[in-house]
Amino acid sequence: MSHLKIANDTERQQAVVIGGSIAGLLAARVLTNHFDQVTIVERDRFPEKPEPRQGVPQSHQLHVLLTQGQRILEQLFPGLTEELAEIGAESVDWTADYQWLFLGGWGPRFPSGITTRTCTRNLIEARIRQRLATYNSIEFLEAGTVTGLLTNQGNTTVTGVRVRESDGTEVELPAQFVVDASGRYSKTPQWLQGLGYETPQKTTVNSFLGYASRWYQSLSREPLDYKVLYLMPKAPHKPRGGVIYRVENNRWIVALIGVGRDYPPTDEAGFLGFAHSLHSPEVYEAIKDAQPISPIYSYRRTENRLLHYEKLSRFPENFGVVGDAVCAFNPVYGQGMTVAALGALTLDQCLKQHFQRRSNQELTGLGRHFQKQLSKVNTVPWLMATGDDFRWSTTEGGKPSSITRLLHWYLDQVMLVSGESTEVYKVLIEVIHFLKPPTAFLQPSILAQVLRQVMNGHGNTDVVSKSFRTS
Ligand SMILES: Cc1cc2nc3c(=O)[nH]c(=O)nc-3n(C[C@H](O)[C@H](O)[C@H](O)COP(=O)(O)OP(=O)(O)OC[C@H]3O[C@@H](n4cnc5c(N)ncnc54)[C@H](O)[C@@H]3O)c2cc1C
Repeated sequence: MSHLKIANDTERQQAVVIGGSIAGLLAARVLTNHFDQVTIVERDRFPEKPEPRQGVPQSHQLHVLLTQGQRILEQLFPGLTEELAEIGAESVDWTADYQWLFLGGWGPRFPSGITTRTCTRNLIEARIRQRLATYNSIEFLEAGTVTGLLTNQGNTTVTGVRVRESDGTEVELPAQFVVDASGRYSKTPQWLQGLGYETPQKTTVNSFLGYASRWYQSLSREPLDYKVLYLMPKAPHKPRGGVIYRVENNRWIVALIGVGRDYPPTDEAGFLGFAHSLHSPEVYEAIKDAQPISPIYSYRRTENRLLHYEKLSRFPENFGVVGDAVCAFNPVYGQGMTVAALGALTLDQCLKQHFQRRSNQELTGLGRHFQKQLSKVNTVPWLMATGDDFRWSTTEGGKPSSITRLLHWYLDQVMLVSGESTEVYKVLIEVIHFLKPPTAFLQPSILAQVLRQVMNGHGNTDVVSKSFRTS
């Protein structure tokens, strides 16, 4: 990975990305379409191998890349899916290889072609980074922490970033465009405030969900007839869930989750006890005699958090914010990387349109327009995640409106129908994987099945949840 040579040639169009995780790497990839030079400033040193790293504390946890996300990665890096396959990431068909216990019972199993490669987040990040390293226009500045934005006189335009290197030296890195992709703990609100801007409004919805995860080389009962298993929590009374997820090198990540501060413990006995308490025995049976290859990793900062940059009356020119730095989700819905990928495509689109309208390299209005477009991209995933979190009475950050409650009811009906219908189940999986919008649930054939179910008196979700321990 190359180290930075400070670019002082302001004739060249230089972009800087703060943060070299998924959102930053994908933003950098699309910036190469529009800038001569793109520098990714990352406070960590990147590991040689695909391994967890300090700057991404969630990197020990399982990360599902949704099918739409994988398709976008493939679009940005042709051949990436095949590369992941060559390194041992298995193909998972999300209806054939996925054993899901949800409101509709066990999901039907059949091939649908809704596939992804399952692997660790670390592998995805490492392969993207390696691909970017082959671009002449990309530079990585590792072990460099951005400590502030550089601006013109009057602070109307961002002109670069200030970077503290590992030896404590501060350097200034000029840029025509700066993108903040520094994640959930981004300092942009404080930086903007320091420059005389309002801080963006923040919306937080917290279901107090916690993870405890452990990695295994093999499980107690192999071979298993699935590659992913999910025992889903069920509001209002079953806050616990568990996931078994196949990753590269024939390993498994097992995650226990608990909603409403019912956090899974991180000691041996507590971890097993929590697994044993789940509403179906598969996870416990899979790990009770299995040899773990990691400690138990806990993670609890999972609130949905949205910063409304699009609503600021003033926003600095030549600047944008992407990924978790703008919108971080409760991770249990597996949306973050895919939304980061959608954000990168949006940035690309905004840049294309901007330069089509202007023949020079002037960027006035671009950042502001981008934040507005990005907020539209974030809307549906945000509603999906927070809407589901509002099923729990312990969730803080608002109460479900009567429309949300109606949607909960309707979605419950769809889930009940989908337990019996492969056609509806496939639509459910497509919506979860961002291949179809949630309005797909309103298509006439699904509406008709829901109506039939309700008229036949089979739509009572309480009855179903009482019989939830089904195996
Ligand atoms: C427990 C958990 C499970 C998750 N599971 C999933 C999942 O199943 N599927 C999914 O799609 N998503 C999941 N996510 C979300 C996913 O991790 C993120 O959405 C994704 O990594 C994109 O985040 P990001 O790149 O915006 O920020 P991050 O991944 O947080 O990265 C921010 C980067 O910026 C760097 N940085 C921070 N500050 C500075 C600075 N001042 N200067 C330089 N560098 C800086 C950090 O070191 C880091 O590399 C999960 C998240 C959590 C917490």
